[in-house]
Amino acid sequence: MKETFEVTKTEAEWKAVLSEEQFQVLRKAHTEPPFKNKYFDNKTAGTYLCAGCDLPLFSSKEKYDSRTGWPSFWKPIAEDTVRTKTDYLLIFPRTEVHCRRCGGHQGHLFDDGPPPTGLRYCINSAALKFVPERS
Ligand code: FE
Repeated sequence: MKETFEVTKTEAEWKAVLSEEQFQVLRKAHTEPPFKNKYFDNKTAGTYLCAGCDLPLFSSKEKYDSRTGWPSFWKPIAEDTVRTKTDYLLIFPRTEVHCRRCGGHQGHLFDDGPPPTGLRYCINSAALKFVPERS
């Protein structure tokens, strides 16, 4: 059964509101290069919103340095902000992560993360919009 989303747009509508890079990642499940993206090394306190629909997905509180070159989190900001499905884009199956509200591809989920969850949400910077905490 095809998953349905609260925020839906045609491909042309997404193209009109996203940058080319955001479109390729969010709508085409492309992966940006490691270490050459906006947030992998960002240590500022704040919230990461979905670049497609502005839903808050991750917090700096659960961000850690996975040394992979992508922003990595050990859990999402709240339950049911992201959803997962199995993809077969490589020869082995992976757990794909997408935004609950717009379906935008975020990255992948691995089980080699730190405690307490042991999870690693490996996310593309291009799929996120960072909002620093107000001090
Ligand atoms: Fe979204």
